Amino acid sequence: MQRVDDSPNRRTRSMARTILAAVILMSACSRQDLAVVPAPQNFEQQRKTMVETQIRSRGVRNENVVRTMLEVPRHEFVPPEYRAQAYEDGPLPIGLDQTISQPYIVALMTELVAPMPGHRVLEVGTGSGYQAAVIARLVSQVYSIEIIPQHAQSAAERLKKLGVNNVEVRAGNGYLGWPERAPFDGILVTAGATEIPPRLVEQLKPGGRMIIPVGTAPSEQVLKVIQKDAAGKVETRDVIPVRFVPLRRQ
Ligand code: SAH
Repeated sequence: MQRVDDSPNRRTRSMARTILAAVILMSACSRQDLAVVPAPQNFEQQRKTMVETQIRSRGVRNENVVRTMLEVPRHEFVPPEYRAQAYEDGPLPIGLDQTISQPYIVALMTELVAPMPGHRVLEVGTGSGYQAAVIARLVSQVYSIEIIPQHAQSAAERLKKLGVNNVEVRAGNGYLGWPERAPFDGILVTAGATEIPPRLVEQLKPGGRMIIPVGTAPSEQVLKVIQKDAAGKVETRDVIPVRFVPLRRQ
């Protein structure tokens, strides 16, 4: 007959095992991990605060743009280690020396391009895909071109996973635009150019506009609106000083 071991010794061993398991569990969900990934409702609250304190307060008035900034989950577009900062007032690294733009700049550029439901928009510099996801909610079709193939691929996968199905992403040199898909109602250039790329102006429809940071040095970039009128005449105006990663020419 097998003896049931119910000695004080056995009970102590079993208690020790329970405590050890609890300690392992606690260290696996340390406070630090919890801080890195806040609960989803927390992200929603952070987006509301972002829109009030960074976007409306700085004068973005287009209600469609404001609503879109409340809806698009920016934390899905930043690397996991930056998720807790996803709704802060600045750009964040996305790898390979590139950045996701500051939320206010994304909202401002989206407002300036004057998106309308039937529009086809070109974005130069897909990066994380965040700006593309924002503008995609306000127009019919977005074409986004990215010079770093890894970013083009991961942004395309991310957009697909999030159910954004009106953005076509391609790896290539956006300095030359995307002639096969031209002309565009709007063009957003999300990297800093040293001059206005002539091929992009050509690919703008009459009545269309391009939003682009231009400056000979990164510290001297200005966000510009290039407006092409119905007759094809082009006018340029300056909006605000900005700082973007450089637009490569090749
Ligand atoms: N719009 C992005 C931020 C872009 S950062 C977002 O929402 O996350 C600028 C991006 O422009 C970088 O990914 C960079 O690789 C890309 N880029 C730079 N020069 C380019 C060019 N000539 N054509 C296409 N993409 C370019």
